[in-house]
Amino acid sequence: MSLLSPEWTALLYLVAAVCFILALKGLSSPRTARRGNAIGAAGALLAVVTVFLSARLENVPLILAAIAVGSAIAFPVARRVQMTQMPQLVALFNGVGGGAAALVAVLELGHQEDPWVRLAVVFTMLVGAVSFAGSAVTVGKLQELISTRPLLFPGMPWVMGAVLLGAVFSGALVVVTGSLGWSLALLGLGLAAGLLLVLPVGGADVPIVISLLNAFTGLAVAASGVVLGNVLLLVAGTLVGASGTILTKVMASAMGRGVGGIMFGAFKGGSTAGSTALSDRPVRSSSPEDIAVQLGYAQRVVIVPGYGLAVAQGQHTVAELATALVARGVDVVFAIHPVAGRMPGHMNVLLAEANVPYESLRELAEVNPEFATTDIVLVVGANDVVNPAAKSSPGSPIYGMPILEVVQAQQVVFLKRSMRPGFAGIENELLHDPKTTLLFGDAKDSLARVLGAVKAL
Ligand code: NDP
Repeated sequence: MSLLSPEWTALLYLVAAVCFILALKGLSSPRTARRGNAIGAAGALLAVVTVFLSARLENVPLILAAIAVGSAIAFPVARRVQMTQMPQLVALFNGVGGGAAALVAVLELGHQEDPWVRLAVVFTMLVGAVSFAGSAVTVGKLQELISTRPLLFPGMPWVMGAVLLGAVFSGALVVVTGSLGWSLALLGLGLAAGLLLVLPVGGADVPIVISLLNAFTGLAVAASGVVLGNVLLLVAGTLVGASGTILTKVMASAMGRGVGGIMFGAFKGGSTAGSTALSDRPVRSSSPEDIAVQLGYAQRVVIVPGYGLAVAQGQHTVAELATALVARGVDVVFAIHPVAGRMPGHMNVLLAEANVPYESLRELAEVNPEFATTDIVLVVGANDVVNPAAKSSPGSPIYGMPILEVVQAQQVVFLKRSMRPGFAGIENELLHDPKTTLLFGDAKDSLARVLGAVKAL
């Protein structure tokens, strides 16, 4: 017997749905993101408890055991994950969500006679399987378990076409016959489609694909809401689908790319391929003391944080350096590129950890016109987001991506460990520019040495 009446169930689902909407609203600003996350988690907890109280569940011990196993895996993984590995974790959770929706649809098939509901079953299985397999490839690429370069084989578009045709054919048979055998074939074809869709995507575009697959999972979950007759799943899935689609578009335009070009660009001639060849051309390097003099006597300094700052965990040291410079009367701001680091908002999160005030952060469009009046740009562990190849080299993997135009400033100082390229795997001409100086070393160490020298001025 269920403890909750249908009216109470509907009301609690409504409260949970409102929590999800408020969560998204909160997540739209770094100031309210933590609260938004907590509200979303509370909504999810309420939804789970409501299911237990309202549905006549069989196999409750098995369900509780599955929740216990899932939590036992997820808690330590989520606690221990490095900030730089967050996109992989998001992709993993997202893929598992899509896979779960697909499996639920397979199990539910036997209970459904209505062809329209079976159509929703087919949609859930196919899109969920695509999302699962595609997300697994994105995790592999970001974790560098597989090559970040586009992986293609001859005839791949034809194989993809055949897989999609096969999926449509077996999906139609599942709708008509409700056959379990054909639904397993459909799952297999969905997994193959996921692999074929993401393998040709180059590393620099992987974050956008994660966001797109997130939208796919949302759609699969929404369709599973139709299958199970559960309004909350429908609402939650639609929210994820819609927000994932918006994020995909925003990220694609931040990288100056179209979603179609990202997914299928490699078929047309490998526009996402990069080169990892190292340059042996000379560069000008300098000492922490010289850089401290340049910074300490400048009027205006712009700091460009990037992935390397996160790797070095130098956020507190860079914040201290900014404070020391401000104390000397230098005007200091941080320029934030939307895809700096390895996840959307990565630099905002990193600098917020070190209590850098939001007022010191400048977005790309806001800061670009200000570089011409900037004395020194301090590029800390960033590379692709300042690489002029994005404007000057058609065919380069980042061509078309809006960049921070640091070359306009009087002087540019790079803190990095070597001449290795950034994520896109391409050389940065700016490192050889006469106005550029390099300080080689781990960003945190270099920042600490520069900070010490600034304090000694
Ligand atoms: P990049 O990956 O282009 O460059 C990072 C730089 O940091 C490298 O030049 C590296 O050089 C240096 N570095 C690494 N570790 C350290 C360290 N410990 N100390 C000092 N330097 C270090 O980073 P950007 O932030 O400029 O660009 C982000 C790139 O990642 C873009 O191509 C973007 O498309 C992609 N991306 C973005 C995601 C997002 O959502 N934000 C997600 C996934 C990818 P060296 O090894 O010589 O030290």
